[in-house]
Amino acid sequence: MKIFKLLKDILAPKKCYSCKKEWHFLCNDCRYRVAEYESSCFICKEESDDYKIHKNCKNDWVYYDKMLIKYHYDWYYISKMIKDAKYYQKKDILEDFWKEMGELLEQHCMNLEKSILMPVPMYFLRRWKRWYNQSEVLAKAISQELKIPCYNNILYRKYNTRQQSKLSKKDRMKNLKNCFAIRSKHIDILDKKQIILVDDVVSTASTLNEISKLLKSQGVEKIVCVCIASN
Ligand SMILES: [Zn+2]
Ligand SMILES: [Zn+2]
Repeated sequence: MKIFKLLKDILAPKKCYSCKKEWHFLCNDCRYRVAEYESSCFICKEESDDYKIHKNCKNDWVYYDKMLIKYHYDWYYISKMIKDAKYYQKKDILEDFWKEMGELLEQHCMNLEKSILMPVPMYFLRRWKRWYNQSEVLAKAISQELKIPCYNNILYRKYNTRQQSKLSKKDRMKNLKNCFAIRSKHIDILDKKQIILVDDVVSTASTLNEISKLLKSQGVEKIVCVCIASN
């Protein structure tokens, strides 16, 4: 596999989306110019250590405990890279991102040894049509990098919901109501574990929150979300 990858890199080298230099989709020079997402509370956007959601901001409707985000989505090349990776079969692009997501977790997520990774599931027909679920690709790669287990068969989507990005915040919540479920034969795996939910882009976090709500109803205590970008 490594030889195949090397050959591919030589025959069709990656090119920086921004400056067109070879070998990376986003070269180090350009990477430094991208606005990174500061450690803040996802709800109020104010400063917060390790991306923790403030206690006061949680109320009784936020179920995740941290939201780790690497980049601002409005930087043109970041959004273009993510869209290409998601909709245009350019899965390789994700490689530039999972390494950074792994680093983000190492720096801001305690108890990694007691954690398990879970990608946000895609409805099976949609996954079949697209060949892969980008969140699953990211979660599996982070799992290898950090040596923590990844389970992509515990959570699943019961219905094919409308695409969240096309809906208002209220409709997003309605759209997702009871759409996720847990396969009960795997439920023991969740016991005393911290769950790390992996997704590509987060906007209102309705999806991550709906999954977190379900996991917490099963006794999960801590939920950390990690995403490439947010607007
Ligand atoms: Zn560049
Ligand atoms: Zn807050």
